[in-house]
Amino acid sequence: MDSRELRLKFLKFFEKRGHKIIPSSSLIPENDSSVLFNIAGMQPLMPYLLGEKHPKGSRLVNLQKCIRTIDLDEVGDNTHLTFFEMMGNWSLGDYFKEEAIKWSYEFLTDKEEGLGLSKNRLYVTVFGGNEKVPKDMESVKIWEELGISTNRIYYKSSKSNWWSAGENSPAGPSTEMFYDITGNLGDMSQEEFEKAEEEQKVVEIWNDVFMIYKQEGGQIVGELPKKNVDTGAGLERMVTMVQGKDSVYETDIFKPIIDIIDIYAKNAPLKYKRIIADHIRSVVFLLMDGVMFSNVGRGYVLRRLLRRAIVLADRIGLPEYIFGNSEGHSFLTEIKNTYEGIYNIDLPFLHLFINEEETKFRKTLKNGLKEFEKGTDPFILFTTFGFPIELTEELAKEKGIKINREDFDAKLKEHQKLSQTSSVGMFKGGLANHNENTIKLHTAHHLLLAGLKAVVDSSIKQKGSNINEERLRMDFLCDHKLTDEEKKKVEGWVNDKIKRDLSVIQKEIPLREAEKLGAEMEFGTKYPDIVSVYFIEENDGTPISKEFCGGPHVEKTGLIGGLKIQKEEAVSQGVRRIKAILI
Ligand code: ATP
Ligand code: MG
Repeated sequence: MDSRELRLKFLKFFEKRGHKIIPSSSLIPENDSSVLFNIAGMQPLMPYLLGEKHPKGSRLVNLQKCIRTIDLDEVGDNTHLTFFEMMGNWSLGDYFKEEAIKWSYEFLTDKEEGLGLSKNRLYVTVFGGNEKVPKDMESVKIWEELGISTNRIYYKSSKSNWWSAGENSPAGPSTEMFYDITGNLGDMSQEEFEKAEEEQKVVEIWNDVFMIYKQEGGQIVGELPKKNVDTGAGLERMVTMVQGKDSVYETDIFKPIIDIIDIYAKNAPLKYKRIIADHIRSVVFLLMDGVMFSNVGRGYVLRRLLRRAIVLADRIGLPEYIFGNSEGHSFLTEIKNTYEGIYNIDLPFLHLFINEEETKFRKTLKNGLKEFEKGTDPFILFTTFGFPIELTEELAKEKGIKINREDFDAKLKEHQKLSQTSSVGMFKGGLANHNENTIKLHTAHHLLLAGLKAVVDSSIKQKGSNINEERLRMDFLCDHKLTDEEKKKVEGWVNDKIKRDLSVIQKEIPLREAEKLGAEMEFGTKYPDIVSVYFIEENDGTPISKEFCGGPHVEKTGLIGGLKIQKEEAVSQGVRRIKAILI
C-alpha cells in the first residue's frame, strides 16, 4: 500500500462511518496568533471544538498539514519530521470513547477496510489519573474488549496522556497507540515498554484525545456540555508501519528524494541525507502556503531550513542549486509527483524563490564559513553573512564549542530596536487583533489590492499581508517598481472609494462559487469548502472588491477616514511590498 492509497483508505473508512471529509487548512494559522504554524490537526478546528457549529456537521475527517519546529533536533531519526500530515477523525459532541477507540483499532488492524497491521505488535497507553481526575478505566475496558491484553495497556501521567491547549481550554485524557517496528518485542512490562519507546523500537502512531473537562485559569471547573473526540495519526509514520520499513525515509513518500541524494552522495552519513530530504520538503510546503524568506517569524524558519540544507548538501557533495532545480534529477518534480492531485505544487514559482534564496546565501556562505573558523561573533555571522544562529550553533557543536546564545539574543534585540524592524508586533497583528484601527486597515487593505489591480495591472496578486494597529503591509506579485505617478493614482483611487462611503458586505458561500465569482485569493493558500467572502460594492451594487477573508471589517468604507501609502519597495524578485497608514 502506498501513501496515496493509505490517505484515501483513511478518509473512506471514516466517511463510511458518517464523517464528512474536509480539506487541510494552510500551514499558517488563520485566526490564531499564538503559534507560527499549525502543529496539529486540532488547531484549525479549535473554534468548533469550543462549540461553534461546523457547516459540515459533527463528524469530520481530514489530513492536516503540520510543521513542528519543536521537533527539529530530532529530525533525522526514524520518526520525526519537520513537515508531516496528521490524519484525524473528529467528533464534535457526537460519538465518544467507545466508537473512537473501536474505529482506531479497526482501522489499524482490519485487513479489508483498514491497514491490516499485526495485532501482536500493538501497545496502548491510557491516562493513569491524578488528584483531580481518576484513571481512565473506561478506555481500558474498551481496549480489553477489543482484545488488547491487560499487560499491554500502560498507565501514563498527564505529561504524555493529558491534553489541554492552555489555561482556558477544554481538556481531557488521551489514549495512545504504539507499534513495534522490530516485530519481536512481545509482552513487555511498563518499564520495558518505556525503554523500547526511548529506543524507538515502539513508535507512537495514533493519539485519541477525549475532551471532557472545562478549564478556567488552569483549573478544571466542570464538564463540557458537549464532549469531543480529537484524534491524530501521522501519515508518514503509518505508511512506514504498513510498508514494513524502519523509518519514514524508506517509504514511497521519501524514497524518490533520497534516491536523488544517493546519485551524488551514496555513502554520505544517513542523518545528513535525511535532514536534507526533510528540509527541502518542508521548504516546498511552506513556500506553497505563502511563507517568504525573511529574517523574522515564519520566513525565518523557512530561511533556516533551506540554509541548513544547503550547508549540509555542500558538505556531502551535492551540486549547487540542486534544491531549486526543476529539471532532470529534481527534488521539486519528485515532491510534486508525490502530491499530484492532493496539494498544489507550483514548480516555476518554487524554482524562482528557492534559487534566489540560494544565490543570496551563496554570496556570503564561503566567507561566512571562513569567518566561523576564525571564531567570529555569531551575531556578525548572522547580520553580515546570513548565518541563522541555529546553524552557527550546530556548526559550533560539531567542534565542541558552545555559543553564548544570551549574548546573541541581546545583540539582536538591540539591533532590532535600532533598525525599528522589531518583529514583536507581528504575532499580534493579523486577523486575531480586533482593534479599531486594525479593522479599518483590513478594509483599506482590500481597497488597496483592488486599487492596484484597477490602476496598475489587473493581474496583480497578493502574496502576503500583515496588519497591526499602526499600518498595513501588503506583498504582491508585480513585475516592476511602482512609479510615483502610479502610487499617487492608487492612493487617489482608494481614497475616492473611502470618501464615497461604500458598503462592505460579507457572504458565506461555497468555495467553487466564490472561485467562479473571481474572488481574490491569497496565492498558494488552500481554502475550506465554505468560505467567507467580503464584497465592497459601488452604490449601484457593482462589486469593486471581492476577497476571501474571515474579517472583521468596517461596514462602510467612510469609517476608514483615509489611507496614505508610506513606502513601496522590493521584497524579492517579482514581489513588491507596500506599507500604508491611516490618515
Ligand atoms: P512523539 O512523542 O513521537 O514525538 P507526539 O506525542 O509529539 O509524538 P502527538 O502530538 O500526539 O505526537 O501527535 C499525533 C501523531 O502525529 C503522532 O502519533 C504521530 O503519529 C504524529 N507525529 C507527531 N510528531 C511528528 C513528527 N515530528 N513527524 C511525524 N509525525 C509526527
Ligand atoms: Mg513529539
